[in-house]
Amino acid sequence: MLDSRFFSYKDTVLSCEGVALDALAAEYSTPLFVVSRNALVEQYRAFEEAFSSLSHFTCYSVKANFNIHVIKALSDQGCGCDVNSGGELFRALKAGVDPQKIIMAGVGKSDQDIEYALQSGIFMLKAESLSELRHIEAVARRLGVTASVGVRINPNVTAETHPYITTGDSKEKFGIDEGSLDEMFDLFKSMKHVNFMCLDMHIGSQIFDTEFYHAATEKLLDVLDAARAKGFSIDYLDIGGGFPVTYEPQKPATPIEQFASVLIPVLKKTGTTIIFEPGRFIAANSGVMVTKVLYRKRNHIGKEFVIVDAGMTELIRPALYQSYHEIIGVKQQEATIVADVVGPVCESGDFFARGRTIDAVGEGEYLAILSAGAYGAVMSNNYNGRLRPAEVMVDNGRTSLIRKRDTFEQLIENEV
Ligand SMILES: *Cc1c(COP(=O)(O)O)cnc(C)c1O
Repeated sequence: MLDSRFFSYKDTVLSCEGVALDALAAEYSTPLFVVSRNALVEQYRAFEEAFSSLSHFTCYSVKANFNIHVIKALSDQGCGCDVNSGGELFRALKAGVDPQKIIMAGVGKSDQDIEYALQSGIFMLKAESLSELRHIEAVARRLGVTASVGVRINPNVTAETHPYITTGDSKEKFGIDEGSLDEMFDLFKSMKHVNFMCLDMHIGSQIFDTEFYHAATEKLLDVLDAARAKGFSIDYLDIGGGFPVTYEPQKPATPIEQFASVLIPVLKKTGTTIIFEPGRFIAANSGVMVTKVLYRKRNHIGKEFVIVDAGMTELIRPALYQSYHEIIGVKQQEATIVADVVGPVCESGDFFARGRTIDAVGEGEYLAILSAGAYGAVMSNNYNGRLRPAEVMVDNGRTSLIRKRDTFEQLIENEV
């Protein structure tokens, strides 16, 4: 969706915070990701505002957009980070985030990840299995430190979202299930180098129904009661991310205030500090991808294709999750066409829209693919020898290149 506070037409040209996107495309070439710094900051503030009456801290889920300048824009506002790997921890530290504001998730952390996290002095590691807990204990013992640990519980609720982004169901690989809790409590009692301080969940992404969130939270609170009954003092509850955004104007996301009004009363009575991990909510509508129309072609059955210079290698969401992204002309148009908007990659799944009514763009003109700020550039890859795209950030009319496009040389530099 076009967030008109940050992206709007100015003299018939789509602009980001007043900067014309066709000028950016000409300067930096395409495909190009354009991020509005103020959009990131305002979404973070809106989130903080909604939950302001609750004792909490927010850790932006870095995987949504891990560019260090994006991380820095948020950490400058006081936001922490949720990282999912040693690589993301490295990014957060490079962005200057205080290690005590970093937490680490991940269903398959290696001993190296665990060691890096402990040596960096991050706030908390979230364990997703009993075996992982044993590894955390062993690494902490070897380093002579105490690891602050949260446990991700699988609350066994099925969020009504795309199956690839539901994570709180016991059929999925995530978290520790309710059948293992007693064994887990016993394990904690036996461990000397682990401080059990938090219960955690993350039930999926793009969750529209507050009731799923509520139901999962209630399950987490049952585990909290059980843990307290065993004598553990749990000071934190981490209820994850997954807060929705609007991709299609016809399908508006549940407002964040609605989640707040359902969750705050339930969470307040626990007496814990709540941790949130929003990713998409903060980043999705902060960015667009600008792509150039290379060719138009019409086949003998009258089907029209608009072939653009971006593909699934830059924005994989339509191919991976059948996601909808709005597509609009960078230059405002009166006329429309019905077309498939497709990329140059040798895969039939390489499309952004099928049979879509779009602005009647000509060859050489630009399209903007909206809501590309989360799970966009971070998933770009070099398949088909493609160069990962450039990214620019706009801040009140000032533009900075925050990632250079890959070069051909980079494509082979690791091939020894
Ligand atoms: C991906 C992820 C998030 C963020 O999810 P969004 O839907 O982007 O808010 C938060 N926590 C964990 C553990 C995740 O894996």
